[in-house]
Amino acid sequence: MSEPDLQFRSFADVVRWVIEELGAMCPSPERLAGYWENPGAVEYRDIRYHVEEAGCPICRAERHAVDAGHRQ
Ligand SMILES: [Zn+2]
Repeated sequence: MSEPDLQFRSFADVVRWVIEELGAMCPSPERLAGYWENPGAVEYRDIRYHVEEAGCPICRAERHAVDAGHRQ
């Protein structure tokens, strides 16, 4: 069993680790949808971090689903 590397380089690494290990920290579907509607909103700052910086694959997949049903 290898020694877990807990020397995270940045907070983004911590977030990524939490997402991968715990599947946690995803915003509610309602808030996530609100973020995709208005990505610049201050109230969704944490979601922007979660999606853009931590790159949560779950929420990114969600965006593609929204885009697909949102075509103009
Ligand atoms: Zn997520």
